[in-house]
Amino acid sequence: MTTVGHWEPIVTQIWDTVITPCDCCGQVVAKRLWVVDVDGEEHRFCSTRCEELYRTHVVPQRRAETAT
Ligand SMILES: [Zn+2]
Repeated sequence: MTTVGHWEPIVTQIWDTVITPCDCCGQVVAKRLWVVDVDGEEHRFCSTRCEELYRTHVVPQRRAETAT
């Protein structure tokens, strides 16, 4: 399965108070999100750099934590 991310523009409504932080660095994304599938889960990042960081740092760490 090939996973390709895509940019998703954030449309903020005046009544909308939902903020979307980056799954990697936690920064609140204001304009557009990099949406990509990581290990079968949809994740949102502020940049492709954060996706890379997430894949190289967070995912192996999570795997190590869940490994028995
Ligand atoms: Zn980020």
